[in-house]
Amino acid sequence: MAENGHFDVLVIGSGASGLAAAVSAERAGARVALAAKGAIQSCNSAKAQGGIQAAFSEDDSPEQHAQDIWKSSHETANMELVEILTSEAPSAIHWLEELGVTFTRENGGYRLARCGGATRKRLLQVGDRTGHAITKALRDVVESSSVTVFPNSPLHELEPSWRARCGEHTIDADTVVLAAGGRCYREAEERGELTTNHPGATGEVTQIALDLGAEARDLDALQYHPNGGAWPETMQGYSIPETTRAYGAVLLNADGEEFTDSLGPRDVVSQAIFDEVEKGKGVETPDRRPAVYLDTTRISAHDAELSLPYMLRRYRAGGIDPLAETILTYPVLHYQNGGLVIDEDAHTTLEGVYACGEIAGGTHGRNRMMGNSLLECVVFGRRAGRAAARN
Ligand SMILES: Cc1cc2nc3c(=O)[nH]c(=O)nc-3n(C[C@H](O)[C@H](O)[C@H](O)COP(=O)(O)OP(=O)(O)OC[C@H]3O[C@@H](n4cnc5c(N)ncnc54)[C@H](O)[C@@H]3O)c2cc1C
Repeated sequence: MAENGHFDVLVIGSGASGLAAAVSAERAGARVALAAKGAIQSCNSAKAQGGIQAAFSEDDSPEQHAQDIWKSSHETANMELVEILTSEAPSAIHWLEELGVTFTRENGGYRLARCGGATRKRLLQVGDRTGHAITKALRDVVESSSVTVFPNSPLHELEPSWRARCGEHTIDADTVVLAAGGRCYREAEERGELTTNHPGATGEVTQIALDLGAEARDLDALQYHPNGGAWPETMQGYSIPETTRAYGAVLLNADGEEFTDSLGPRDVVSQAIFDEVEKGKGVETPDRRPAVYLDTTRISAHDAELSLPYMLRRYRAGGIDPLAETILTYPVLHYQNGGLVIDEDAHTTLEGVYACGEIAGGTHGRNRMMGNSLLECVVFGRRAGRAAARN
């Protein structure tokens, strides 16, 4: 076991939230270490396609954004956290731009889409590789900073005040930021289901915090992405971006009928698909999996080329052109809505331990809106990093 020194702040996880926390703590003057389970590039954040929410359009406001979250969460979100999330969203976007993220623009402004549960167009995108662009920019900053990175160093033990065993390393730190994401990969494996998640999403860091006495909320509330790819086989477990529906695609049953508001809150849309299949109005994939149709032929070629190029490429490589034919879809395990209880500084109920990103609970209540997770990573990652450095 190698002794690897004492740091002011130790960040666990290299997704968008961990990277944002590490950058912010280092910029606040702290000596920072970051430990990741695998390669620093491996995370769910990099897989995020659709986009990130922020109220920029003239008919929108942070208050409206907060109201949409309250409604989509079925009135279960922590509104103190939500108000921080939505009011700091525009400055979080500008911060990302300063770090080198270039959001897709049109007509002199951001290209904004409406996502499920939203009353306004509010979703900024970088084509359909938004998470990749955000994590790459943050990683570049971390790699050119004084942050000490420990890749392939999974946290497996944390002792109070704080000593972390990460792989072969022992790392001491005054404060710890837990940014290790959710657990949907492990959960899907246990249920024998498909998931959109990265294999690192296994949840043991949440368990370590719970064993130390941390409080959590809504841990049972897992989110199904309404539109998992069902066919071809190469697209199974792929999350068809919600922006397909934002740009006109609709869900159809076996009889070609629209059976739900395709841009409703995620849990409502997923349940509508489950119910339709249960009623016998679904279809089957060639390998006999349940599915319904997503009519992507209604998306204009212009919108698809600007905002869905990666999705188009992947389907076309599998022999299906989504602009010429409907595609098959079924909900797939995607996101851990709940997590560790945090306050406005992302401080958990354990002294000196912070949590940000998917590992934390409250911001989305029991049902997250699309585009708010990347936002949460940036807003609360920055807050966690700054507060941990101050502490
Ligand atoms: C396919 C897909 C598409 C998505 N699309 C969108 C979207 O368009 N918009 C949106 O807002 N959200 C989207 N999401 C959700 C969002 O991307 C994630 O919820 C969010 O990025 C999670 O960020 P994070 O930093 O909390 O965790 P992650 O990005 O999952 O990073 C967790 C990090 O912790 C590390 N880790 C795990 N365990 C340990 C351990 N024991 N020790 C050390 N390190 C550990 C992992 O290796 C990883 O580096 C999408 C998710 C997926 C999977």
